[in-house]
Amino acid sequence: MKVLKFGGSSVANAENIQKVIDIILSQKDNHAIAVVVSAMGGVTDRLLKIASLAASADDTYKTELEELEQKHLTAVRSLLPIQQQSATLSLVKQHCNELESICDGVYLLKELSLRTQDKIVSFGELLSSRIIAAKLESLGVQQQWVDSRDLIVTNSNHSNAAVDFAITNERISTWFKANPSTYYLIPGFIAANLAGHTTTLGRGGSDYTGSIYAAALGVSALEIWTDVSGMMTADPRLVTNAKPIEHISYQEAMELSHFGAKIIYPPTILPVMLKKIPVWIKNTFEPTAKGTLIESHTEGANDFIRGISSITGISLLSLEGSGMVGIPGFSKRLFEALANEQVNVILITQSSSEHSICVGINEADTLKAKRVVDYAFSYEIQTGKVDPLVVETNLTIVALVGEQMKSHPGVSGKMFGSLGRNGINIRAIAQGSSEKNISAVIATKDVKKAINVLHEVFFETSYKQLNVFIAGAGNVGSKLLAQIQQQQLFLQNQLNLQVRVVGIANSKKALLADQGILLDEWQSLLASASVSGIDEFVAQIQEKNLRNSVFVDVTANEGVAKVYGRLLEKSISVVACNKIACSSAYDEYQQLKSLAREYNALFLFETNVGAGLPVIGTLNDLLRSGDKVNKIKAVLSGTLNYVFNHYDGSKPFAEVVRQAQTEGYTEPDPRLDLGGTDVMRKIMILAREAGQQMEMEQIENRYFLPQSCFEGSVEHFYTEMAKQEPHFKALFDKASAEGAKLKFVATYENGRASVGLEHILPSSDFYHLYGKDNLVLFYTDRYPEQPLVIKGAGAGADVTASGVFADIIRVARI
Ligand code: ADP
Ligand code: ASP
Ligand code: MG
Repeated sequence: MKVLKFGGSSVANAENIQKVIDIILSQKDNHAIAVVVSAMGGVTDRLLKIASLAASADDTYKTELEELEQKHLTAVRSLLPIQQQSATLSLVKQHCNELESICDGVYLLKELSLRTQDKIVSFGELLSSRIIAAKLESLGVQQQWVDSRDLIVTNSNHSNAAVDFAITNERISTWFKANPSTYYLIPGFIAANLAGHTTTLGRGGSDYTGSIYAAALGVSALEIWTDVSGMMTADPRLVTNAKPIEHISYQEAMELSHFGAKIIYPPTILPVMLKKIPVWIKNTFEPTAKGTLIESHTEGANDFIRGISSITGISLLSLEGSGMVGIPGFSKRLFEALANEQVNVILITQSSSEHSICVGINEADTLKAKRVVDYAFSYEIQTGKVDPLVVETNLTIVALVGEQMKSHPGVSGKMFGSLGRNGINIRAIAQGSSEKNISAVIATKDVKKAINVLHEVFFETSYKQLNVFIAGAGNVGSKLLAQIQQQQLFLQNQLNLQVRVVGIANSKKALLADQGILLDEWQSLLASASVSGIDEFVAQIQEKNLRNSVFVDVTANEGVAKVYGRLLEKSISVVACNKIACSSAYDEYQQLKSLAREYNALFLFETNVGAGLPVIGTLNDLLRSGDKVNKIKAVLSGTLNYVFNHYDGSKPFAEVVRQAQTEGYTEPDPRLDLGGTDVMRKIMILAREAGQQMEMEQIENRYFLPQSCFEGSVEHFYTEMAKQEPHFKALFDKASAEGAKLKFVATYENGRASVGLEHILPSSDFYHLYGKDNLVLFYTDRYPEQPLVIKGAGAGADVTASGVFADIIRVARI
């Protein structure tokens, strides 16, 4: 014999019931088949609502009842041929009348006991099983309807009754022997106590019913037919990429279900496990899908982590105090106090100092638990040996399950490391010594993110997802978005990296799309997006709480630079081409670096110096590998290089500058470049990265622009430069007379930095530096005479965007 159990969604309406019938009748082998069914989807919830409406004297329960009756009558009418409907229609009506009388009683008394509630909800399974039985009969299939209330005997713990297996097994086998049949139809969920009062087995309990019959009858298999294609690596409602688990052991399945995998009701496994009956989880809506096989051994399976599950609605209770150290019996008293009040303990951890015990319980029991524990320890609390119980709520347990994890070191490191990198704070940890499960308690608001992070780390062979938020949609931003779009497929195929741009903001608007912005259309989407400032953008990024988030600043805006701290604190990495943060006061720069360290995020700004050239990365590598920087000499302004490469006195200096601006090689205010400020910032950033505490005021600037050029507007600056043409001409002539070129050079040596115009002779590395190129010379212990040279285009939106892009990829690879 086999037992097939069909859940609420499988029997939710006539169409689905037809699928169930097809599955039952397509069973090829000559087994007898016992079919256990749940109530039609949603009916149990509805019956509970009706009961509570009636109990609170709200007469809308009548309309609800009416609708419920119609739902079942409609199913009968759609399933059975007209000539055969009447008996079942009247049976449904009869059940509904009885149900109504009970509800009327509750309404009049304004009282609802759990016993009455069990009676009320039992109609869900009674009705569905009767209707399906009638459908089989209408097809000429003989069946025996089984009243579970006669066979499954429980205690009187209504709504969550415990089964008396000795009597139950006896009754089931006797009854089945006395009533031979090929098909049986059995209502799930319901049972009765010895006095014959209806009881129920707990929400989701039809799975358990299936298992009880399977074990009592010693069947060859239990099949649980539901609405997903098997037990999955995680709840598919939380993780879109969850995959069906082909093969899993009883213990693992039990562990996953105990830790919240709703697919199977936790007590279900034990009876079938004891009898070694294999359990299949199958999909009613995709019967050919393989599903999951649960049995004793899972040899040959490679995944040492089998699944991830979670239980929300958890409170943590912490009992702490110096009076607990070394004195036996404290934990016993704690657990006794909780047990006496029927508070179920879900998770326990105790620090090895014995200074504190921490237990996780259902949130619903919190007040009761606090009261009883404080009472049990009132003497110790009064005498200061123990603190009053500390309670934290709104928590969730996330559990990683797999029998083979004991032979794989580093699982917990990987688990906690990846949660930590994503800013998920872990409140408590428990690992059973059997090592089938590692659990962490986290804030409920983080659960979706946490499960996705863990799923990605332990199961995702296809890709890791990076969620990118970009501030700035100007020159560099547009190029960056184009590069990301062009490279997306390559990254997915070659690096297993899915780069999703989830947010784009300019100075006025912010566009956000959880599933990723369509990069073909980002301009028009952003144009029609809602108005938002940077603070709102940041608030939305934090609220989305997506895993592997990175914030990219491609603006030159001070307000944007100010938000990095708030993001790093949430473990969101920051990639900036904006130089403002790194060139602000040393303390602020340091603060950001230490926040990044503290919260396991990256703060990367390679493009602050030399655009896309690998300057900062190289410097970091030198230092990390033990080299010492003695001197840096660099031409760091693509703009100034461009200007002095194009100026030979034949065309006015002011015009050359304007041309540089038109071609996009200057800051919006070109005086930042011409006055040397931009170069000062860059050499300061290099000095700081080399370990030097340095501020802008400490840098010597040998200005070559006359002071008058700095006064007034940008236009005035151009007029003033034109007036000063002889000054520029003289600078040029003096250098030419020596056979030298003019270059604006930054120097860092002995802890001091300076910038200024220098005469560069043909023997210098800087002499052959054309266009907007930058050149950086690192003189170090390892490169004492011949410096390490980095040379190439040091300005331009394309190269800057590619440097930013490279930083983004660096974030993905931590
Ligand atoms: P039924 O009504 O058939 O008993 P349930 O709703 O009780 O079905 O259980 C099936 C649901 O369990 C799925 O639709 C899915 O949303 C949820 N679920 C939670 N965790 C898992 C998991 N690890 N694997 C599969 N489904 C899961
Ligand atoms: N109908 C019951 C419930 O909804 C039992 C079940 O479906 O397993 O909880
Ligand atoms: Mg279920």
